[in-house]
Amino acid sequence: MATAPHRILNDGGSLPALGLGTAPMDDAQTERAVTEALRTGYRLVDTGASYGNEGGVGRAVAASDVPRDEVAVMTKLRGRDHGYEETLAAFEESRRRLRLEYVDFYLIHWPLPRLDRYIESWKAMIRLRDDGLVRSIGVSNFTADQLTRLERETGVLPAVNQIEMHPGFPQDKLRALHAERDIATVCYSPLGRGNGLVNDRGVIGVARTHSVTPAQVILRWHVQLGTVPVPRSGNPQRRRDNLDVFGFALTEEEISLVGDGCHQRIGHDPEVHEEF
Ligand code: NAP
Repeated sequence: MATAPHRILNDGGSLPALGLGTAPMDDAQTERAVTEALRTGYRLVDTGASYGNEGGVGRAVAASDVPRDEVAVMTKLRGRDHGYEETLAAFEESRRRLRLEYVDFYLIHWPLPRLDRYIESWKAMIRLRDDGLVRSIGVSNFTADQLTRLERETGVLPAVNQIEMHPGFPQDKLRALHAERDIATVCYSPLGRGNGLVNDRGVIGVARTHSVTPAQVILRWHVQLGTVPVPRSGNPQRRRDNLDVFGFALTEEEISLVGDGCHQRIGHDPEVHEEF
């Protein structure tokens, strides 16, 4: 059974080096996928209040034989719940749906700069962490300026920032800032949402050299850059393959070849995206 090693975070906690994405799977699909994924070695599950599948994650984790302290559940605050009291109340709802005493990772899903309430939410997150209800707090889709502002106004940097990243959008600048401030980069759409990256001729060539799949090459590229991908697959065999990337290594040359993409975002731009 493949397993991912852990990396240490800036708050002293730790994070598996690869996890399972769940959006846009519905509640029932998520329960099935997470149940099987935990059985086959996944120890990090990514969800969010806005995905409508926290219940499925909660049922799968509760029914699993894997000890609770070996599973990390990452969930996110949605836009309509920004604000101090709103965040505390929304967290309780997520915790109830997840059936958990504590949540491993609680993230602000989007910064929503026009609303400008993420500092209030961040203060609530700090309280949730200090009260022991959340192990590590983080953000998603935050820019360098927004990370700097969080630290300036609260003195607390996130342990993780979950951002879009794949070989077609390698996020060099933001990753450099994360490295400087010891913020873990969690990567969503790590396979480029299945949009052709796995058919890239260069990636296929590297895959042949190592007798692995193109998706495994891309996920190994993430691991060697020190980032934590959360690929999603509805297919059990692909899920198992996606986790099985800790038994081979890419050369420096192969890493540059895989990352030689077109630097094109496929998801929303966090400077303007409004998600409620
Ligand atoms: P992704 O994981 O890059 O790609 C998923 C697509 O790749 C699916 O169509 C899947 O198809 C295919 N795939 C998976 N494994 C494969 C393999 N081994 N070979 C070939 N194709 C494969 O994209 P994503 O779902 O956008 O991102 C992953 C997770 O990130 C989400 O599920 C969610 O948890 C999170 N996310 C977070 C945010 C945020 O704002 N924080 C935004 C977007 C996503 P099959 O199902 O058919 O295998």
